[in-house]
Amino acid sequence: MRTAEIRTRWLDYFAKQDHHIAPSVPLVSPDPSILFTIAGMVPFIPYIVGTQQAPWPRAASVQKCIRTNDIEEVGKTTRHGTFFQMAGNFSFGDYFKEGAITMAWELLTSSPADGGYGLEPERLWITVWDQDAEAKDIWLNKIGLPAERLQFQTREENFWDTGQPGPAGPTSEIHYDRGPAYGPDGGPEADTQGDRFVEIWNLVFDQYLRGEGAGKDYPLLHELEQKAIDTGLGVERLAFILQDRANMYETDEVFPVIEAAEALSGRSYTRGASSANPDDVRMRVVADHVRSAMMLIADGVRPGNDGRGYVLRRLIRRAVRSMRLLGVEEPSLPVLLPASKDAMKGSYPELETDFDRISQVAYEEEEAFRRTLTAGTTILDTAVNRAKSSAGTAKPVLSGADAFALHDTYGFPIDLTLEMAAEHGVSVDETGFRSLMDEQRQRARADALAKKTGHVDTSLYTDLQNRLGGPVQFLGYTDTTAEA
Ligand code: ATP
Ligand code: MG
Ligand code: MG
Ligand code: MG
Repeated sequence: MRTAEIRTRWLDYFAKQDHHIAPSVPLVSPDPSILFTIAGMVPFIPYIVGTQQAPWPRAASVQKCIRTNDIEEVGKTTRHGTFFQMAGNFSFGDYFKEGAITMAWELLTSSPADGGYGLEPERLWITVWDQDAEAKDIWLNKIGLPAERLQFQTREENFWDTGQPGPAGPTSEIHYDRGPAYGPDGGPEADTQGDRFVEIWNLVFDQYLRGEGAGKDYPLLHELEQKAIDTGLGVERLAFILQDRANMYETDEVFPVIEAAEALSGRSYTRGASSANPDDVRMRVVADHVRSAMMLIADGVRPGNDGRGYVLRRLIRRAVRSMRLLGVEEPSLPVLLPASKDAMKGSYPELETDFDRISQVAYEEEEAFRRTLTAGTTILDTAVNRAKSSAGTAKPVLSGADAFALHDTYGFPIDLTLEMAAEHGVSVDETGFRSLMDEQRQRARADALAKKTGHVDTSLYTDLQNRLGGPVQFLGYTDTTAEA
């Protein structure tokens, strides 16, 4: 089943269950407190927390998401993308646990001929909050789930809140067992890697009003008058299961970019395994980051030095650098981006119509980065060698001064230096780097202040005086020897 079909089946199913079908909102979050849309519920937050009356009692969507906190997982786990699509269904004071659980089970397990996804029920494992007797009862007695595939977890794992007083509630997560080839038995609770028991769908039951407290340590004050349901299923995760692939990077909307990277680099990707081979990881990173960058540009983000723009810049740079590590020196986005666009345009036709603009932004950023790399790489290599030779038997550390020079003169952001140094097994004195950055900032502030007030900040001068152990004689007008 192609990814696009997973999307349409989702929307068709919930439309039949009287849900309003809401289009995906842009990746630039409509909620000003976060940079990106990180979950399907983001556009519905006012209806869930109850600050606005929902226009419909039930809604469903397939939402484009960006999660930058998963960037380090990409290509290493089987199931984390910086971009992914979250399918969701929502109830605002309408159905609650029983409705949510029954529909989820029916959609996952009914046959494709009946509009379902046709998963074998025996492969589904469920977790619930250990205090949630109601959810437990529904799973065991309404659904008929065998008790050995129901696991109980604490508030740490199976409880949702917004981080502040307001609505909160238990969750119930659905996991798919890929079988013994992917790890030992024991269910999701035992599988810390999540490779065998893949989390596919999170059902959140907004049930309580919570009070003050740090972390998960807060009182549940009372049941909400208007309870809500908020669920999220990872479309790419269901896709890799239904397409019988080892991971999400090998599904139909992502894999063509890996193939393009193979063709460009002349190296081959090991399909099937969730391999830790560095080249395979790089190709998965490339495919993920190229797609995320394309989707961000499509939604109006432009590369920049902070906020969303910096995330986009970082994604493009990591993709380009991964291609270099695969031995490709020439520009690679002109091949990779069209491959990603062709794989995604079935679901997002605007990628095709807007491709001239999208590709221009991406190609310019690759060119700019290539210039940065050309200027800085030799300097970085020198600094790395210096760190290694001065380390002796200790672990080599690139100095804060070198990291600062790379930043200041060659435009290497610190995380680029960190990543490139790490590739040589060298860490970076980040504390030293940050204090040099602070000094520079203070100097700039003092300069600006001096310009504004006409006064020079003399603290540097005083500092020098103290270090020299006495007043420095001002020789500017009389001493001419310096000019001789
Ligand atoms: P995980 O524990 O695997 O990191 P999560 O618990 O952080 O997932 P949720 O916040 O519960 O994920 O999001 C709902 C669903 O969205 C998940 O069950 C999963 O199917 C999907 N999902 C979450 N993060 C990603 C990601 N980075 N890439 C692809 N799918 C994701
Ligand atoms: Mg996660
Ligand atoms: Mg999880
Ligand atoms: Mg989850």
